[in-house]
Amino acid sequence: MRIEVDFSGLEAALSSIGGVKAKIGQLRSSRQIANPIELEIIEQGSIVLTGAELAKHLSTTAGLLSIGNTQITIHIFDPFEDGKSLSDSPARKTQFHVTDCKSIEDMRDKGLGNRYVSAARHDGLFEVRPFDHEKQVRGGKMEARLQPCHHCMSALNYCHYAERTKVGRAEILADFNLEKFFEDFKSIFRCLPIYTSDTFPMGDYPKNWARITWETRNKVGWICSCCGVNSSGHASLLHTHHRDGNRGNVKPSNLEVLCLACHKSRPFHSGLVYPANHKMRIENLRIAQHLPRICKKCEI
Ligand SMILES: [Zn+2]
Ligand SMILES: [Zn+2]
Ligand SMILES: [Zn+2]
Ligand SMILES: [Zn+2]
Repeated sequence: MRIEVDFSGLEAALSSIGGVKAKIGQLRSSRQIANPIELEIIEQGSIVLTGAELAKHLSTTAGLLSIGNTQITIHIFDPFEDGKSLSDSPARKTQFHVTDCKSIEDMRDKGLGNRYVSAARHDGLFEVRPFDHEKQVRGGKMEARLQPCHHCMSALNYCHYAERTKVGRAEILADFNLEKFFEDFKSIFRCLPIYTSDTFPMGDYPKNWARITWETRNKVGWICSCCGVNSSGHASLLHTHHRDGNRGNVKPSNLEVLCLACHKSRPFHSGLVYPANHKMRIENLRIAQHLPRICKKCEI
């Protein structure tokens, strides 16, 4: 739906104080969109690609699947699962992937003829076309509620997945909330634009960074080592910072767990995005935890 709003009054007020209207294109380029496919995912929520096309554009950012700078999931568009089983909540067989797991490697190696959906939507619904085994035909497009892939959860050790019993793992898969997952790992993507190409540190995030940062923060009980705010349940407010600026150096002595605010005050981090709603959440947490609203050391 196109929403028509009359901005003429606002524009007149803006020009009266000498302001200039920002172009939408400028906003986009500040998000550093890598290619038309990434733009389409952002605008449409998802896109269907053959394995070969996907392999060309698919990258991994610190172990998470991405296209350009956008975190995505992928799954098979034409699974061999019928409409009834795909309508179950969740579907019984087809799964989606969030990390560079064994199945993704297989896709890159030999699944190049298959079609995949790459999606950035967070609602837990995925586009698929069911297969009728009796008639041997494909049905029309439908939305299915899928579970995350077991290998992906093991690779990330999300919520201690790898250490749990069979029953515990099934619970994590069943309770998995994609919106929360994207939120939990957003910090990796938020840290990306800190450096320019000139100042980019030598090392890049290792492949298992998503797991390392999760476990590093978990080990200290989700507490910022600077201001002391406890961010359990708000994973995206807490980052794992590299003291020497080298993302490839993941020795525990080089890693520091910092809330978004304290992180932003570190050298070369002024470009770190610190949205007003996050500022409010951090300050509210500090107040609720009887800490000063503003970090004494960082003054933020
Ligand atoms: Zn997977
Ligand atoms: Zn802090
Ligand atoms: Zn940092
Ligand atoms: Zn601080």
